[in-house]
Amino acid sequence: MRRRTEEPVATGSGATPASPPSWRVPFNRAFESGKELELVGEAMAGGHIAGGGRFTARAEALLGEILGGRSRALLTTSCTHALELAALLLEVGPGDEVVLPSFTFVSVANAFVLRGARPVFVDCRRDTLNIDESLVPAAIGPRTRAVVAMHYAGVGCDLAALARATEERGVPLVEDAAHGLFGSWCGRPLGTVGRLATLSFHETKNVSCGEGGALVVNDPELVARAEVLREKGTDRSRFQRGEVDKYRWIDVGSSWVLSELLAAFLLAQLEARERIQTARRRIWQEYAAALAGWAAAHGTLLPRVPDDCGSAYHLFHLLLPTPAARDGLMAHLRSRGILAVFHYLPLHDSPMGRRFGYRRGDLPVAEWASERLLRLPLFASLDPASQEHVIAAVLEFSA
Ligand SMILES: *Cc1c(COP(=O)(O)O)cnc(C)c1O
Repeated sequence: MRRRTEEPVATGSGATPASPPSWRVPFNRAFESGKELELVGEAMAGGHIAGGGRFTARAEALLGEILGGRSRALLTTSCTHALELAALLLEVGPGDEVVLPSFTFVSVANAFVLRGARPVFVDCRRDTLNIDESLVPAAIGPRTRAVVAMHYAGVGCDLAALARATEERGVPLVEDAAHGLFGSWCGRPLGTVGRLATLSFHETKNVSCGEGGALVVNDPELVARAEVLREKGTDRSRFQRGEVDKYRWIDVGSSWVLSELLAAFLLAQLEARERIQTARRRIWQEYAAALAGWAAAHGTLLPRVPDDCGSAYHLFHLLLPTPAARDGLMAHLRSRGILAVFHYLPLHDSPMGRRFGYRRGDLPVAEWASERLLRLPLFASLDPASQEHVIAAVLEFSA
């Protein structure tokens, strides 16, 4: 029964079961910069609250800057929708294949399955839990239309190896950077190496507007069409900029534009990014320092950040030595009023995964990680006393 109620938590990225007020330390709390209502008020006062207005333009420009100035960011209603937009833009269709990790969020698979494609799941690395780049070349076949990599916890995948594998075969690389905004690989911002990348501004992410996302377009040839597909298959974006005198139906598409109200809210958070990232980094480093000795003594692995990666400090996880130790620590923390959660249930080992011919045992590292992983509370407003309470509770536990 317990497992059942927790399943949506484990499958989801954010893991926010309704936190009863009884949690002394909740798992997550949405950040508030203090400026959100002011900017939302400005958007309302302007009289235009649908998408494509000045707050959308400002948030997209700031995202472009954060991403190094060569990428075009298009705000969308979610990261899930940005992935759907990516699948449509890459013309993925029935009979095609998409290569992706099994240890990731369900939307990565769904976006392509919705277009009729078959997911080809790849196992992950034991250290970063990112897609195992050494397995990707063999997973690419004549029908592969995309390889999607996800930067788990905000730590970069081996993008050099992935870029090589995909370029050799002429297959586009898509980065799911839902965890990765503000992270870097070899000095480059995550989300700027693949042909396309996606971002999430869901409540559980570093920067949020409740629900929202972005498609990052790194190939200038795809920008105009991405705008059209996002805007119901019309050239309304050009019309709004005064580039055409009427807008028409010119392609397929859907309604993936983010409201100005949410763009204004998001802008307030993006402007507070230094504060957010400084707090998250401090909390992450405090966990790493305070738990290192305990982890070594109890066969537990702490997150590893390769030397060429700058973490986005999206999450802090432990890999316990056994599934029983993970479940035991989770229960122990809950008894101390601390909500710690696990994820992901590997996609290949799910009812949908089985429909595509996968079975338990096919991808052992994803299964190993899924059964042993526990995420500790990490959010910008986690105060030192609460974090100390979490650390003390972990140190009491014998794995
Ligand atoms: C949060 C998340 C998504 C989906 O984001 P939404 O904005 O909620 O649709 C996709 N991929 C990963 C890795 C995520 O963590």
